[in-house]
Amino acid sequence: MSDAPILRDTERTTGRSALQNNIQAAMALAGAVRSTLGPRGLDKLLIDDDGRTLVTNDGVTVLESAKVEHPVARMMINASSVQDKIARDGTTSTVLMSAEMLQNAWHLVTQDVHPAIIARGFRMAETHAHEVLMELTLESEFKHRLLATRTSLAGKGHHSMQILLSELAVEAAEAIQVETENGIIADPTRVKILPQSGGSISDTRLVTGLVLAKNRIHEDMPRVAGAGKILLIDGGIERRSMKNDMKINVTSPGVLESFRAKEVELLQEQIDHLKTLGIGLLACKEGIDEEAKIMLANEGIQAFRRVARSDLDLLARGCGATLISDVKRATSKDLGAFISSKNETWGSVAHWIVETEEGGATLIACGSTETVLGEVERSFADALGVACRMLEDKRLLAGGGATHVALARRLRRFAETIPGREQLGAEAFADALEVIPRVLAENAGLDPIDTLLQLVAAQVNGGEDSHHLGLDLLNRKPADMVESGVLEPYLIARQSIAGATEAAISILRIDDVLWAKQDPSMADVPEME
Ligand code: ADP
Ligand code: MG
Repeated sequence: MSDAPILRDTERTTGRSALQNNIQAAMALAGAVRSTLGPRGLDKLLIDDDGRTLVTNDGVTVLESAKVEHPVARMMINASSVQDKIARDGTTSTVLMSAEMLQNAWHLVTQDVHPAIIARGFRMAETHAHEVLMELTLESEFKHRLLATRTSLAGKGHHSMQILLSELAVEAAEAIQVETENGIIADPTRVKILPQSGGSISDTRLVTGLVLAKNRIHEDMPRVAGAGKILLIDGGIERRSMKNDMKINVTSPGVLESFRAKEVELLQEQIDHLKTLGIGLLACKEGIDEEAKIMLANEGIQAFRRVARSDLDLLARGCGATLISDVKRATSKDLGAFISSKNETWGSVAHWIVETEEGGATLIACGSTETVLGEVERSFADALGVACRMLEDKRLLAGGGATHVALARRLRRFAETIPGREQLGAEAFADALEVIPRVLAENAGLDPIDTLLQLVAAQVNGGEDSHHLGLDLLNRKPADMVESGVLEPYLIARQSIAGATEAAISILRIDDVLWAKQDPSMADVPEME
């Protein structure tokens, strides 16, 4: 092949071999997370460059930490990351379905069906899948949402941790939900996670309000403050720091004293301004000088210094305050409101607890070791994300592969109505969804093919709610997933199918891959299993 000069430093694969390479990369990637799917999934031990280790069962964590440079593999990892961002769950499923779609597409390509036609078939099937998915949903009650949150923690930590964290996540989500014109919104970033080493997982609890491991800066300040106004400073109340090249000319004995007195006077002016504003509570990102501490205590203001920017932001949102950098410029408009602010000592550590109008909650995460604590934090964050999404759309679907089998059956019937070759693409799409029950079975030590056939037969012969029949991994036979409490949020399943399709279609459309030769590492395709 004679490449144009512009492509001289480039390696090029085109047409079928480009597609084959890309599909292999996608499948190798799916192979890396396959064994983590479901409650019986295995854990992966990840080791970073510094030798730090992390044991995880979470598909997206595995993928994001892997050093994969193949561009197509990266596209799949992105699909999984997007899933994680939007839905907080379903990341492994997304990658598995996408790779399976591509593998099925490859069979068709070898039979001379053009990738563009397959992609069209995929799109038709996906559109129909979303309609069917909606019909398969059930309205949820509180207890169902609790179960769905617990399902999202399947395979992470032990059972009692899953129960505790899912309950706390649902409680936290309800605490921070707000009604807007566009329905309920629950923003998980409004819940703070405060890790505390020592203690056991069962000490993990939720506290209303924002909790910071901070003490008020002076003993004489009130320990407890009732409702009042708060000012947040993106700086400190300090004397101006002397610059290295600054000089004070001492011409008479009193100069230094008057210089110091002037500085204290400036601090006093700032405190006086705070007094006029009538605040009861003050939080600074930076320091507060000794003299200012006493002045603040004299005014009965409760003050905290060296508060992390992230906490100041949470406070600002909770109290409706604006962060200001210059105390003297603060106006009453910048102030926020709090309901109560108190100092409490837990164990031997001082804590500051602020309650505000706009809710906000803090998870006090406990665990005996750093590893356990990390797992509690990550699992709670995932469960919270799911619980929040579920408040925004309360519909649920049956898990354990039930929905995927039901969807595949309906899509195969739909495919038959397509007269052209796209029919083959739509069928390949339908079959790909069954990867979920197959892999769930495989990871539980069951025969994937027999189990899938059993499940399909059970749904065909079942009654009205046969689409609830999925894999009961405890009893190793088909069971009603709604009765077993294996439920999944509709939004998560929908997003996972949409993301998988998007990634598969974009990979199918690539028929030309140009590798820049100067970066040989780019050609690393992960090993096939
Ligand atoms: P993902 O990253 O895709 O969320 P998970 O490892 O969390 O992967 O596995 C999710 C799958 O496991 C879902 O299909 C869910 O229905 C299924 N699952 C979870 N708990 C159970 C259970 N107790 N019985 C059967 N299937 C389950
Ligand atoms: Mg999951």
